[in-house]
Amino acid sequence: MNEKRLIDREELDKMLDENVWTLHRFHHDSIKCGGCNYTTSTTYWAEESRVAAMEKMMENTPDEQEPSGLCGTCMSDLLTGDGIKIVGLKN
Ligand SMILES: [Zn+2]
Repeated sequence: MNEKRLIDREELDKMLDENVWTLHRFHHDSIKCGGCNYTTSTTYWAEESRVAAMEKMMENTPDEQEPSGLCGTCMSDLLTGDGIKIVGLKN
């Protein structure tokens, strides 16, 4: 039987690679959330690696300020957006 695929396997792998992030947590003494400006000691950023997350946070923070991500509330709001699914990894 000849299996017809709607999407090429290579194309699917590329799409998955481009859309898979890991959520990273960052601890601070005290910092303003990059989204709501609320003062917090923990922020979050989603990227494929922790280094990429730190780079993106630095890009989005003015030079004189400590890089920060989003507070828990702002990150939760972001993760409830359309098209986002949370997938657990098997150990
Ligand atoms: Zn916030």
